Formats: sequence, structure tokens, C-alpha cells
Amino acid sequence: MMPITRNDLEILIDFPDQTDYVVSAFADLTVRDGFRRFAETELANIVRQAGAALSEAEASRALDEHMGPILQAVEHAEPSSKGLAAFSAPGRGLFHVMQLAFPVGNKLVLDEEPYVLPLLERWYGAPSYLIALVDSHELHLFEAHSGRTERIAGLNKEVPTEIQRDKPWFTYKKRFNHTWHERQQRLTNDEFLRAVADVISEHFRSTSPTGLILLGQPPTTAAVRRLLHKEAAAAVVLEHSQAMRSQPKTADVEDDVVRAIEAWKRAERDRLLGELEQRWARGHLVANGPTEVLDALQQGRAYEIVFGSSRAMPGSRCRSCGYRFGAPTVQCVYCGGRASMVDAAQEIMKMALSQRIASVHLLDRPDGRAPDPLERAHGVAALLRAEANWAPATSPEGR
Ligand SMILES: [Zn+2]
Repeated sequence: MMPITRNDLEILIDFPDQTDYVVSAFADLTVRDGFRRFAETELANIVRQAGAALSEAEASRALDEHMGPILQAVEHAEPSSKGLAAFSAPGRGLFHVMQLAFPVGNKLVLDEEPYVLPLLERWYGAPSYLIALVDSHELHLFEAHSGRTERIAGLNKEVPTEIQRDKPWFTYKKRFNHTWHERQQRLTNDEFLRAVADVISEHFRSTSPTGLILLGQPPTTAAVRRLLHKEAAAAVVLEHSQAMRSQPKTADVEDDVVRAIEAWKRAERDRLLGELEQRWARGHLVANGPTEVLDALQQGRAYEIVFGSSRAMPGSRCRSCGYRFGAPTVQCVYCGGRASMVDAAQEIMKMALSQRIASVHLLDRPDGRAPDPLERAHGVAALLRAEANWAPATSPEGR
């Protein structure tokens, strides 16, 4: 099972303006009543209903040519998949299937752009972590993603690489292998920790997790942290003291991972809500609601975006200049072009993902009954690095 990758999302959100249809299909592949997969039947039913409801010939033809391959992908999905997402637009050369490690509801969306909100919510709401459990002789590297933890690599100071290499999860750069082979003798402590830092850094670079967790005795993790490559070192979200057990397994670190992730989430929640409260009190450097957040993103002023528990945010996007609005509008106030309806929550997350300058946080209710912490900001707020230097309600062309 592959986790969602940035590339998966970028394929789907990086479209110039198009007018043909994209069919986005989500299939629930979990087991119910001992049977798996009502998805094919349910999706086919949705198609029939949609076909009856759509009067536009173009839309129903689009459904016909898209759905065959999508239903086939559902039929041939890996048994371990919990869900499937498929995006089809033959006119753009797009047919993209993703098998998901998390459940999704059966859903079909026919629009000019792929509907990727469930993937973006997962991307931002279920962060992935690289976890390194290390002592002076061993490194065990784990990856936690979508609630699953897997061991992905290891390194042992006493065991030559030829022996370690026969394990399928043992993958690291050839350059490093080569120097190791040249030596063949046992590494000094410094050399071992440097090798550990290299392996962690290489994995960090290739998997781009949300954060890095270092587990081990404090002097060792501190030393490794200093030796990490710059971007990996900056991504350390937690250093936990933990003794090395003999042959640690996924289950041995899972509790620590869950605890670490929960602690990190709580700290992030407190930090973000604390920061928002201060800015709300001063009425300064904060964007409230989909319209202000989209303005700030489009002006490059937003650096952290905070969603509450609601995602119901109808918005619009100008077909001529591409400007996004956090409310439905027919005509663009900037260029006078025609605007079409979009999902503003999806637009905010898409812009944040492609700009790479803003991070997105999803703060659900701690329990189902507590109020939405972002209610006063209409569901979404952004921390800003600068106030607007122009009034968004005025057309630059004076129209
Ligand atoms: Zn416009």
C-alpha cells in the first residue's frame, strides 16, 4: 500500500484552465457483513442516478467513457486497500488511480477540476513521521503513516553490510555502501553515528514526512541530531528517551509513536489557538474566513492556515484571471470575468500545497460536543506575515 505522495496530489491540482470534465471517484473498499466491496454496485448506482439527473449530453457521455476503466480499477484493487480514488479525464491524458490505506465513502464528482478534498484532508490531517530508534550500535528506522507504522530500514555497527543488505528494507545510498565496503572494519562511534545520520537524512529526503521523531538515550539522539542534514534536523518534532530493546519491532515503537504524535498534535493545537487568540484580541495579522484566507494566500501573506471541524465553504473561481473567492460569486470583481463555483476549503488546501509557503492544520473538536474552535472565524483562519497592502474590494482596473 502506497501512502499518498505529494506527486499524486500535484498531478491532480496542477491544471491550467480547462473546460472538459474530470470524473473523480472514491470507493469504499472496507469489509462489511463479511463481504468486501459494495463499492462497484454503489458507484454504478450513483452513475445511473447522475445520468438520469444530468440533461447535458456532454456530462452523460463523459460519465460513460470514464466509468468503465474506473469500475475496473475498483474490481482489481489490492485486497489490502481500504479505499480507492480514481480520476479520469481522457481529453487531458489523465487517468490516475490511488489505492488508499484509509476508508473513504463512495462518492462521484463530475467537475472541471479533480475533487481531491478527501486526499488533502488526509494529507494534512494524518501527518506522516519518520521514527529513528537509535543507540550506539543500532539504528531502526520506522515510518508512521495513516495510522500504520512500518519498519523501513536498519543499520547495525557490528554487522557487515553484505549481511544487512539481504533484508529487503535495507536501502540506502550507493555512495554510503561503497565507503562502507572499502572499510569493512568496525566503525568508530563517531563514524557509526555519522552513518546513522546519513541514512536518516536520505530517507527523510526521499519520503518527505511531516516530521522526524528521534528515540534513544538523550546524548545519542542529541549527537545524531547535530549530524543530520539541515532539512532533516529542522524537521525533528520530538526527541524521546527510550532504551533499545533487542530486535525492536513495529509494536515496540507504536505506543511511543502514538504518544509522540498525540503530544505533538496537542502542542500544535495549543500553540495555534494561543497564537490565534492573541491576534484576534489585537485584530492584527490574522485572516478570518474563507474570503480573507484566500486573499492572503493569493498575495503570499499567509504562512499557517488553521481549519476547524467544518469544511462546508462554497466559493468561486474566476475563469479568466483565476482569482479565487471565498464565497459564491458570478462575476470577478478584478477582471469582470465569469466565475464558476468551487469548494473554497479545497481551493485553500490546494493553494497551500502548491505554493509550499503555507502549512495547513486541521483542528477537529477534541470531543464531538465541544464547539468548533474556529467558529468565530467561519471555519478557517490564517496567520499572516503582513497586512494587506491593497484593498481587495477595489478593482485594479477601476471597473
Ligand atoms: Zn478575474
